[in-house]
Amino acid sequence: MEKTLLIVILVFSIVLFSCNSKPKTEPTIEKSEAEHPESNTEKIENQDQEKTTSSPDITKIKSYKYTWSKSDNMPPIAIIIDDFGQYSGKLLEDFTSLPKEIAFAILPDLPHTQTVARLADKTGHQVLIHIPMQAIDHKANPGKRFIKNGMDKFAIADLLQDFYAQIPNAIAANNHMGSEVTSDIATMSIVLDELNELGIFFLDSATTNKSTTYTAAENLGLITAKRDIFLDVPDNSDKTIINKIEGLAKYKGRNEPIVIITHCHNREKLVALQKFLAQMDDMGVQLISVSQLYKKLRAPA
Ligand SMILES: [Zn+2]
Repeated sequence: MEKTLLIVILVFSIVLFSCNSKPKTEPTIEKSEAEHPESNTEKIENQDQEKTTSSPDITKIKSYKYTWSKSDNMPPIAIIIDDFGQYSGKLLEDFTSLPKEIAFAILPDLPHTQTVARLADKTGHQVLIHIPMQAIDHKANPGKRFIKNGMDKFAIADLLQDFYAQIPNAIAANNHMGSEVTSDIATMSIVLDELNELGIFFLDSATTNKSTTYTAAENLGLITAKRDIFLDVPDNSDKTIINKIEGLAKYKGRNEPIVIITHCHNREKLVALQKFLAQMDDMGVQLISVSQLYKKLRAPA
């Protein structure tokens, strides 16, 4: 009898122990830009394990030989970090220490949407509403509530007004996922019109090459911007950063600023961005804010 009891206790302890030893469930970010062939989605790091990183090692990147010089008329660069709202804490604080020109795109309806909006305001970063929009792949979940094709203008207006109420300091908006919605000129026209009513610019995250955003904006006489580069695709390695720097060469002499998007999912992405920023002066390019970006873009004729 005693033996049986001992076995029961032993089995129970093993079960309990194995449960406790399982890694703590980490909050996962909504799938981001998953439909974009080059994009990746990563889990957010456990905040408790956050460590402060000292200056990143940019030896490899520093040795890269540019294919342009400072006199080459490189357009200025605007940088936006997407997908904020899922977490707060040390990692978020470290993102706010980045240069003030860098804007934060915040997802609505997340646990820390409003915390990030307030913190960005306090630390001088401009803010975008990162509007969840349906992707061509319907299995991709853009968020709790999102823009879908076929929604009427009242439903779209209600949703955008509600998102704006959560992020009232937003000066612009860009799409989270949205390969299906941005391909549909009827829906995009309503979205752009409504954002214009709210006094907000739109920036196309360019998650599909079939985007109708530019045409829709042109028809409405509105200024719109578009993402040129995803800094963190396919990964956050020095090789990728060097490739992205190399890729800037094709924008030499372009009138429009270069728009770069990266993501806030983990510390590796922050470090990769810091490495890129450490090279900006050497590259002879200027960092500008999102509001400066729109000032530089002329309204379509
Ligand atoms: Zn996103």
